[in-house]
Amino acid sequence: MTQQIDGSQARRSGLNDYDKAVETYEPVLGLETHIELDTRTKMFCGCSTTFGAEPNTQTCPVCLALPGALPVANKAAIEATIKIGLALNCHIAEWTRFARKNYFYPDMPKNFQTSQYEEPLCENGYVDVVVDGKEYRVEIERVHLEEDTGKTLHVGGATGRIHGATESLVDYNRAGIPLVEIVTKPVPGTGALAPEVAKAYTAELRDIVRSLGVSDVRMEQGSLRCDVNLSLNLPGEEWGTRTETKNVNSLRSVERAVRYEVRRQSALLDAGERIFQETRHFQETTGETRAGRSKEEATDYRYFPEPDLAVMEPSREWVEELRATLPELPRKRRERLQAEWSLGDKEMQSVVNADAVDLIQATVDAGTTPSGAVKWWLGELSRRANESGEELAALAITPKQVAELQGMVDDGRLNDKLARQVIDGVLAGEGDPADVAAKRGLEVVSDTGALEVAVEEAIAANPAVADKIRGGTHAAAGVLIGAVMKATKGQADAGTVRKIILDKLS
Ligand code: ZN
Ligand code: MN
Repeated sequence: MTQQIDGSQARRSGLNDYDKAVETYEPVLGLETHIELDTRTKMFCGCSTTFGAEPNTQTCPVCLALPGALPVANKAAIEATIKIGLALNCHIAEWTRFARKNYFYPDMPKNFQTSQYEEPLCENGYVDVVVDGKEYRVEIERVHLEEDTGKTLHVGGATGRIHGATESLVDYNRAGIPLVEIVTKPVPGTGALAPEVAKAYTAELRDIVRSLGVSDVRMEQGSLRCDVNLSLNLPGEEWGTRTETKNVNSLRSVERAVRYEVRRQSALLDAGERIFQETRHFQETTGETRAGRSKEEATDYRYFPEPDLAVMEPSREWVEELRATLPELPRKRRERLQAEWSLGDKEMQSVVNADAVDLIQATVDAGTTPSGAVKWWLGELSRRANESGEELAALAITPKQVAELQGMVDDGRLNDKLARQVIDGVLAGEGDPADVAAKRGLEVVSDTGALEVAVEEAIAANPAVADKIRGGTHAAAGVLIGAVMKATKGQADAGTVRKIILDKLS
């Protein structure tokens, strides 16, 4: 049942202020995540999964659904899914099978997707996340295994969308790549923190799957794709109608999509309108969600058991063997790193919230102290990422470069102010920190002769201040330090300048 809905609903009612919205309504979250597995071959055939090959070169009768072709399930993909299920504290089914999900779309040569329906491989797990010092348990309803679709390309138009295109091309290289779908149960009780809980869950899920080594889980490249469900209700009333925002492709966008839906839906409810159950699309540029098709019900897909594939009965011995291969999971790893880095709970939480654990570890591995690495990633670099609306990891500076920068500070060649100017140069693509410092002439003046002259000049220009210092008010030295800094364009080492001043005036 497809019902076209235009975007005028949102436009008529506008957006509520977020804080006001969450004072009135209670959000209920739900997250569906698709993760492409890193297997060598596809889910039901032997075709290669290598990314970026010439279109339609990695296909065969099975993944093109030629008549009579029969699928065979990929054991590595089943193992990877069981590992994901175990890491998410799920029960692994004793008996499970595939199902056909029928819908017609040109990127699906079979006109159905081989998926799982009533008998998923893994069920009833959970992920715990901490937001604002409080722990939230996100319960996992199911983890199932399916196959990806092909890719369509609409050409000849101005926008790359189907509207206005003169032709559509389809590449089946991706059709049949194993895809794991992870569905949460509804998550109530997050209140105003719903956007942050959604983001924290997605980050935790990504880190768990990455630690298992079964997918590269790169949101920006689509190997982890997130659909965000959200509804609002008044306290004490039944849950509201949910919308599903599809294919949100960064952690920041997950947070923004939830926030936007809270503001949009609350304005509609305030105006006495109802929420349509529909699929929406997140607009990366504006942070809005826009109406797509109305959401199909499960019955629209006419699921039925896949007759061409055998049922699976994972033995308990096999499941335990797989459990024994699980690596250190992110939560344990963070506890270990927090101790190694000597960080307090709050500080470690900031590191996690900034998605900086891996960046800081790589910076420490490149030879700097934990406190030096934390200082740059949580301070100046987080500020820059916020300004430009980027993820921290997307900044054009590497952990190795940050380690080099802090090394120059430790050696006294840069102070923090100069180091920030060096960051400007690195982000502008001018090279590594040492190159930038050399090219831009950014080095601390360590020539004490030159500093002595600058201090003498500052004393001569500020006789009253100099008298105060002579009288024992050492705090007044700040004025003279400031004058020397100005005269040396910030390239003096403040500590050295202070020492020279106090030596001269006491
Ligand atoms: Zn194939
Ligand atoms: Mn799916």
